[in-house]
Amino acid sequence: MKIKTFRGGYDNNFAYLIEYQDRALLIDPSYPAKEILAYCEDNRLKLIGVVVMHSHHDHIVDLQTYKHRAITIYAHSSSKVYKDEAITEDDVITLGNMNFNVMHTPGHRFDSICLLYKKHLFTSDTLFVRGCGRVDFEGSDPELMIDTLERIKHLEEDITVYPGHDYGPTKTSTIKDEKRLNPFLQMTREEFLKNRLG
Ligand SMILES: [Zn+2]
Repeated sequence: MKIKTFRGGYDNNFAYLIEYQDRALLIDPSYPAKEILAYCEDNRLKLIGVVVMHSHHDHIVDLQTYKHRAITIYAHSSSKVYKDEAITEDDVITLGNMNFNVMHTPGHRFDSICLLYKKHLFTSDTLFVRGCGRVDFEGSDPELMIDTLERIKHLEEDITVYPGHDYGPTKTSTIKDEKRLNPFLQMTREEFLKNRLG
């Protein structure tokens, strides 16, 4: 899989541009559209879709720009952001011969999703390298976050994790390493609630 990672945005965000031949799909629009589109143009890529991973302000950057260019915007069905395609659990987003499976992973935010393509999991603010998203915001649900993290723990260990922010010691990780080293994946339900909510 060919991935161009953009790092920056509001707070060390990651946006991932997946390339397939002359087409591209943007996962997590957290980086200025102008620069994403310039990269696509320079590399003769047609941006065919933008996937909103959850609706926090730093992850829905310049959606209007994509809308005006008739680039398909995907977001979870519960999301209030503008979208062309409402997606939910078990839906598939296609780029060439690549199928990205949608997982609805509420907790950090009600409309949080993860995308799984073979051994690649894009987690946005659901799971970070050695961390996880906050659950004390409006639209968060700590109980659902525990269920979501539990679900992620049961994915295959050799899957690579691509988070939505550069908060950890490495840019990406694996399910195996996170199960071993991420404190939030070690906690009991009670410990998690106490730690995350004080
Ligand atoms: Zn967020």
